[in-house]
Amino acid sequence: MLPVVALVGRPNVGKSTLFNVLTRSRDALVADMPGVTRDRHYGICRTNEERPFVVVDTGGLSGIDDGLDGLTARQVRLAIEEAQVLVFVVDARDGLLPQDRTILDELRRSGKPIIAAVNKTDGLDEETALAEFAVFGIAATLPLSAAHNRGTEDLVDMLLPLLPAEPDEAEEQVEDGSIRVAIVGRPNAGKSTLINRLLGEDRLIVSDVAGTTRDPIRVPLERDGKRYTLIDTAGVRRKARVEEAVEKFSVIKTLQSIAAAQVVVIMIDARENLADQDLTLIGHAMEEGRALVIAVNKWDGLDAYQREQCQRALDRRLVFVDWAKQVYISALHGSGLRELMRAVMRAHASATKELNSSDLTRTLEKAYESYQPPLVRGHAPKLRFAHPGGSNPPTVVIHGSRTKHIAPAYRRYLENFFRKRYKLEGTPIRIEFREGE
Ligand code: GDP
Ligand code: GDP
Repeated sequence: MLPVVALVGRPNVGKSTLFNVLTRSRDALVADMPGVTRDRHYGICRTNEERPFVVVDTGGLSGIDDGLDGLTARQVRLAIEEAQVLVFVVDARDGLLPQDRTILDELRRSGKPIIAAVNKTDGLDEETALAEFAVFGIAATLPLSAAHNRGTEDLVDMLLPLLPAEPDEAEEQVEDGSIRVAIVGRPNAGKSTLINRLLGEDRLIVSDVAGTTRDPIRVPLERDGKRYTLIDTAGVRRKARVEEAVEKFSVIKTLQSIAAAQVVVIMIDARENLADQDLTLIGHAMEEGRALVIAVNKWDGLDAYQREQCQRALDRRLVFVDWAKQVYISALHGSGLRELMRAVMRAHASATKELNSSDLTRTLEKAYESYQPPLVRGHAPKLRFAHPGGSNPPTVVIHGSRTKHIAPAYRRYLENFFRKRYKLEGTPIRIEFREGE
C-alpha cells in the first residue's frame, strides 16, 4: 500500500501550495474534465516514480485551545494516525508562534518521524530563518519556498528514507495473475454486501452499522474461471456509531486501494444523489489511470420511474467518463453481479490491450487526415508517428512538432479516435506528445 505523508501546520503557512507542488504531476489529466470535483486535500506525489506516496494536506489546524477540536481536527488526527511521516510546515516570515508549539506537541504525541519545513524562505536569509526554529530540536529541518518550488525535492529526498520499507508486492501480483479490483464508494453504498455476495459466504461481517477497518483487505475470488483479488476498503464492521463511520471514512485507504488495483469499481447508491465525494473518487481513479466500472447499487425496489430518473441523472453528471460502463446491481439480492464482473473483465482487457507502433501510427494518420489541430501562429502542429508507451492505462506516445500547442479538445478527439479504433471500454487512455523525431 502507498505510504502516507501528512502536511500539518497553522493556516496560511503554505501547506496547500506545497501540496500542489508535490502532487501536481497528474493535474492536467483531470483539470480539464468538467464535472470532476477535485479533492485538494489528498493526492499522490510521484516526484520519485519508484516511490509514490499519498500526500494529505490537513488544512486549517488552528493550534488554538487544545490545538485540535471539531470535525476538521478529528480529520487531522485521522490523517496523523494514518501517516507514516509528518511534515510540520512553519512560516519563516511569521516566525515561531505559540500555536506552532501546540501543534508540534500534538505531532510528537504520535511518535512518528517529523520533518520541519520552514516555508517562505524566498528572499530571506535561510540560516537565520532556520535558526529561529532550532528550538524545536527537530534534526530534519529544512528551508523551503513552496511558492517558488525551491527545496521541495530536498524535502522528498528527506522523506523517502523515512517511509516504511516497500514490500515486494509488485512481484507477488505478477505471479498471481489475478485481476486486482478495488471496490470503493461512500460509506453505506454497499461495498461489504457486494463482497460478501461475490464470495458467497460471510467472510466479512456486514451489519447495518457502518465502519471501516484499518487496512484495506485483499480477498481472492474465483468466478466464471477468472481469478480476481478484491481490495476492500469497507471491511469488517466493528464500530457502533454511524457518525463515527462517516468520520472514519478514509480517503487515504480509498486512494491506496485505487493505487493497488487495476480496475476500480465505484459503488454508487441509486437511492442517493450523486455526491461530490463520488465524483472525487472517480477523479482519483482517472488520475491514477485506472480502468473503471460504475456499479449502481440498491437497484432493487426502485420503480421504473425512479430507475429512469436515476439513469438520466447519472448520464448527465458522468459524461466525462462516458467510456465507463454503468452496471445496475443489487448487492443484497445478488442481481447484476455477472454483468458487473463481465464489465470488470472487459475493462481489464481493454486496459491491458497490446498496441503496436505501426498500427498506432496508421490510426494517427487517419485521425490527423480527417481533422487537423488548429493552426498556431499560422503553422499547423504536425503529428508524425506514434508508439505504445505502456498499459493500464493504454498510453500512446505521439511524436511531432508544436505539440505543446495542441489544445485539450484535440487531445480528446485523438483519445476518442484511438478508443473507437481499438474498442477500448472502461479504461482511460493517456496520450503523451513528444517533440521531434
Ligand atoms: P495553507 O493555509 O497552509 O494551505 O497556506 P497556502 O498554501 O494557502 O498559502 C498561504 C499564502 O502563503 C498564500 O498567499 C501563498 O501564496 C503564500 N505562500 C505559500 N508558499 C509561499 C512561499 O514559499 N513563499 C511566499 N513568499 N509565499 C508563499
Ligand atoms: P458499505 O459501507 O459500502 O460497505 O455498505 P454495506 O455493505 O455495509 O451496506 C450498507 C447498507 O445498505 C446495509 O444495510 C445493507 O444491507 C444495505 N444494502 C447493501 N446493498 C444493498 C442493495 O443492493 N439493496 C438494498 N436494498 N440494500 C442494500
